[in-house]
Amino acid sequence: MRIGIDLGGSHIGVGLIEEDKIVGNVKDKILTRQDRVHIEESIINEIVRLVNELLAENNLSLKDIELIGIASPGTISNGFIVKAGNLNLKNFNIVGILKEKLNIPIYIRNDGKCAALAEKKYGAMKNYDDCVFINIGTGIGGAVFMGGKLLEPKRFSGFELGHMVVNKGGRQCSCGKQGCLEAYASIKALRLKISETLDIDSDISGQELREKIIPENREKVLQDIRTYIEYLKTGICNYIDIFEPEVVCFGGSFSYWKETALYKQLIKEIMEPNATFNASKPDFCMALYNNDAGIIGATIIDGN
Ligand SMILES: [Zn+2]
Repeated sequence: MRIGIDLGGSHIGVGLIEEDKIVGNVKDKILTRQDRVHIEESIINEIVRLVNELLAENNLSLKDIELIGIASPGTISNGFIVKAGNLNLKNFNIVGILKEKLNIPIYIRNDGKCAALAEKKYGAMKNYDDCVFINIGTGIGGAVFMGGKLLEPKRFSGFELGHMVVNKGGRQCSCGKQGCLEAYASIKALRLKISETLDIDSDISGQELREKIIPENREKVLQDIRTYIEYLKTGICNYIDIFEPEVVCFGGSFSYWKETALYKQLIKEIMEPNATFNASKPDFCMALYNNDAGIIGATIIDGN
């Protein structure tokens, strides 16, 4: 039995994991404004509390737990959260501090990579060796597998697929650079652009956008959709040329867009002969785990 922890921008989820299943309920804590005053302390205290509650509820002790895996946003290096903008963390020795308190093996990985590991080991990419996983939601992240192995640099997380520049000197990205793919092709970017065109509140959900706003305003937002597809296609075709994957898997909230005209047009354009260097194309698929991918993938260590 392992424990998976999903450290999100606004909440912490802790669950018991057996293979690809979450056993029982995930213990949750929403991070309040008060928690954010001393964010490091709050995260440590809440994780310890939730782990103990989870164990008690299941009549287990730490001795029954093989390891704890944490899925975290941001840049991770050697057990440290080097930076995670949305949590306002910098050089936080989360693994070191938790190990002192819990005294069992603890691992941490970038959440996009955790999601990719879950899909690779149990989900949509299970039957492929060379894979590109692209997580498209508020931002864009991802991971690459070659010969079945997750590619991981020694320094930092690497594979910042969303921060490849697709428009030199273009739109300001939250990372500080300009013209990143994320600034044009995240679901957030699409939501902002369409709400601007239609002059409506930008606080709409991805589901509303997909099921109501776009279908009902197809003509008015046609150009925005075309531009979105063009940028996303540029990014994906670059990944295909660099990695020659057997499969490209889409995760994050974009995985709900499978039946849309937008997705079908995107794939159609990628499949055009001159879109990539080699004419042979990968398969395309959608992630299967969605919300649970991080917490399950966090417990997969070295592919096991
Ligand atoms: Zn960027």
